[in-house]
Amino acid sequence: MPVTENLLKINSTIPDNVQLVAVTKTISPETIMKAYDAGHRVFGESKAQELVPKYDSLPSDIQWHMVGHLQSNKVKYIAPFVSLIHSVDSLKLLKTINKEGKKNDRTIPCLLQLHIAEESTKYGLSFDECCELLESEPFRQMTHVSVNGLMAMATFTENQETIRKEFRFLKQSFDIIRERYFQNNENFREISMGMSNDYEIGIEEGSTMVRIGSALFNE
Ligand SMILES: *Cc1c(COP(=O)(O)O)cnc(C)c1O
Repeated sequence: MPVTENLLKINSTIPDNVQLVAVTKTISPETIMKAYDAGHRVFGESKAQELVPKYDSLPSDIQWHMVGHLQSNKVKYIAPFVSLIHSVDSLKLLKTINKEGKKNDRTIPCLLQLHIAEESTKYGLSFDECCELLESEPFRQMTHVSVNGLMAMATFTENQETIRKEFRFLKQSFDIIRERYFQNNENFREISMGMSNDYEIGIEEGSTMVRIGSALFNE
């Protein structure tokens, strides 16, 4: 189906409190503009080197999210404009984001990525590593990052119960972490879980952001 129809269909299945991040990796500016012209404004990329040229060439009222693995040495290219980094998976990376936020005189919104999948190849912190990061002195000293929630990717599988179990674990981790570290911080409220194949399960399990590429852009 054309992009505009896909967008309508997906939007009609997503509740108002869940944000759709349209993931544009490998998608041309022309195709992205179809979603833009239909009113969509929140887009995500998985590589910094694709995000920057798209930011430069597409309308300036787009909110760009970084959803893929981010290397510390690439942070400086996206720090001036990125709306949300979903994929913070180390203290080192968060330190760099804080430093670049300072340089750009802005606070950069971030999510911490947890590893919830069976596959060992997916990035992310364990629950314990996440707590360790949040308790660390360097994190407490950071002034130019805002940790707004958690993100994770489920195992790539047909088995819906595996996916559901993993998403449920992310939601439980979110609840514990909010209770322990963010009781007086209303910014900590996002759970980024769900992609084309599993976003409906994500929403059922408490997602507030779904990152959808192929289901939207494959015409
Ligand atoms: C590619 C990608 C998506 C979107 O995947 P689809 O299956 O095309 O919807 C979401 N999140 C991340 C981190 C991605 O790299």
